[in-house]
Amino acid sequence: MNFGANDRPDPQGRRRTDPRARGAQPGMDTLLVHGGLKPPRPGEPMPAVTPIVPAVGFVHLHMDDADRALGYEGGVTPVDPESFVYSRYGGPNQAELEETAALLEGAEGAVSFSSGMAALHAGLLALVPPGGSVVAAEQLYGVTRTLLELLAAKMGLKVTYADFLDGERLRAAVAAARPACIVCEVLTNPLARLVDLDMAAAIAREARAALLVDNTFLTPFLLRPLERGASMVVHSSTKFLNGHGDVLGGIAVGSAEAMRLAYQYRRILGAVPSSFDAWLTLRGMRTLGVRMLRACANALQVASWLAQQGRVARVYYPGLPDDSGYVLARSLLRPGCFGSIVGFEIRGLDRAGIFYFVERLRLIRAVTSLGDVCTLIMHPASSSHRALTLEQREAQGISEGLLRLSVGIEDPADLIEDLAQALEAL
Ligand code: PLP
Repeated sequence: MNFGANDRPDPQGRRRTDPRARGAQPGMDTLLVHGGLKPPRPGEPMPAVTPIVPAVGFVHLHMDDADRALGYEGGVTPVDPESFVYSRYGGPNQAELEETAALLEGAEGAVSFSSGMAALHAGLLALVPPGGSVVAAEQLYGVTRTLLELLAAKMGLKVTYADFLDGERLRAAVAAARPACIVCEVLTNPLARLVDLDMAAAIAREARAALLVDNTFLTPFLLRPLERGASMVVHSSTKFLNGHGDVLGGIAVGSAEAMRLAYQYRRILGAVPSSFDAWLTLRGMRTLGVRMLRACANALQVASWLAQQGRVARVYYPGLPDDSGYVLARSLLRPGCFGSIVGFEIRGLDRAGIFYFVERLRLIRAVTSLGDVCTLIMHPASSSHRALTLEQREAQGISEGLLRLSVGIEDPADLIEDLAQALEAL
């Protein structure tokens, strides 16, 4: 099914109009399953699933067509199949993935990449001129900070970090830096704090700055930042969008002009996903809705259970009514969903004690990733935040006893039993 540019779901993913009415807009679950699929053409039975096209080159009947294809500028989705010419420029599997991502985020265009970092790189190149100023969240993923530092060294970007959980500090940093671009994630890692996206968008608007949102942790199923004022959204599709821990990938979505630039950078830098990876990512995305609903429900159960354990000093999860992010989560996220990232601190354990606990887990796996069907656990102090000094970690609230769960879609009773037996072993 080929959905048109107006076929966007509303922010809660529901259909906007009576489904029987002509031109009714499909809900997000329908877009997830059918987005990007093309109708059969006369005399050509269509495979019900788009085949993987590994070809590097595409043959055109007329040289004029090949000439036009080589001049294709990119930007708007759906991508015109006539433009396929060489696989670094894209092909049918990348185009289908991009069309679906643009529909889900409500964007004019999307460009797929071979990793989340490649998507962030292209996004920053598209939004920030050489020597331009950027205000970035202190809470950003560590390698995004490293990328900003690299661009500062190579392109003269001036990067200021601000605490995006504190509106006054953010406003002051933006007033001082006069940035071309503001960069943040909405659900922070590993403490699952929520940035007030509406406030960040208002500050960006007043400062005439672009707002780049990394929506990896929430996905368009829980939040669609473009509708709330973001200029561009990027994803590490390695995480929830694919959801099966078997493909590295990234996606940028935004206006046709921003995507035209991002596409040009991808053409030159070559960070295009392989056709197989694009196909696998979209195959994973088809079930994003059911996976997210289940993972969020499981996370709420696990977080509520952890909060009742004497050995657990603190639980960070915006779905708990006494969590500082609860009210904001209810106004920002899909009703009833609070994400599937849970932080928790075990009382009185040093690093050896934490490692002992993690090694006792039988079902939950210690993997430095997130967003998979299976539940993953990570020790931020020794993995994602190991480059920081002890003082820097403490300033961010990341103690030695802190663990991050990315809750999957297993039976929640089994997850709780696994955590219980490992806590018991302490
Ligand atoms: N953004 C966030 C929020 C991430 O957590 C990650 C990776 O963990 C990335 C971007 C980078 O994605 P990738 O590993 O696909 O390059």
